[in-house]
Amino acid sequence: MRIILLGPPGAGKGTQAEAIMKRHDVAHISTGDILRANVKNDTDLGRQAKVFMDGGQLVPDELIVHMMERRLQETDCSGGFLLDGFPRTVPQAEALDAMLGRLAVVLDGVVLLDVDDETVVQRLSGRRMCRSCGKIYNISFKPSSKGDCCEQCDVPLYQRDDDKEEVIRKRLAVYHAQTAPLIAYYDSRGQLHRIDATDGDSVPDRVDEIVGRS
Ligand code: AMP
Repeated sequence: MRIILLGPPGAGKGTQAEAIMKRHDVAHISTGDILRANVKNDTDLGRQAKVFMDGGQLVPDELIVHMMERRLQETDCSGGFLLDGFPRTVPQAEALDAMLGRLAVVLDGVVLLDVDDETVVQRLSGRRMCRSCGKIYNISFKPSSKGDCCEQCDVPLYQRDDDKEEVIRKRLAVYHAQTAPLIAYYDSRGQLHRIDATDGDSVPDRVDEIVGRS
């Protein structure tokens, strides 16, 4: 399985990726997670990326493309991958085409998780994460059974700086300006599958249909 999960911030890409991973043994590649790990470890990449991330802006394409070139060559990707948060611009999509060509692999499809902006604001402002295992909760829709702590790790949950409402609105504007053009990019090539992700429950089933596993 080789698919791209596309959609606005808060469409549920991370949550759906977790659900899909329970069914398929593929590498889950989230550029946001890789960048956050770099920020946490204070790497060169992390220091360069942080200023853009905190402001709700995209990290420059060159940094992301270089990072993904390396990631897609790792051995766990040979059995397939789920790209979550990449590509995010047309130049990134073009760079991905070139990388896939060099690796001699093809995409099964691009899954667009469609949700409206107000749903995104409501979802993201309630999102909480575990710093230790990365598990995602939502204070309204998917609360932890341990209140403010992670069910698995028992450590306090936190709110990402970029999940504050003002930054969410900025990220949505960036999505519409820079990432939404990818919808036409992949649609024109017959690779786009649009799923209404307002109610996320049926998404893994739809993904199975798309990759021909059901
Ligand atoms: P995410 O967790 O996917 O919402 O990503 C969090 C932040 O990381 C984004 O708001 C961007 O600043 C940065 N980021 C993640 N993926 C990319 C990408 N493909 N291109 C540029 N910036 C990215």
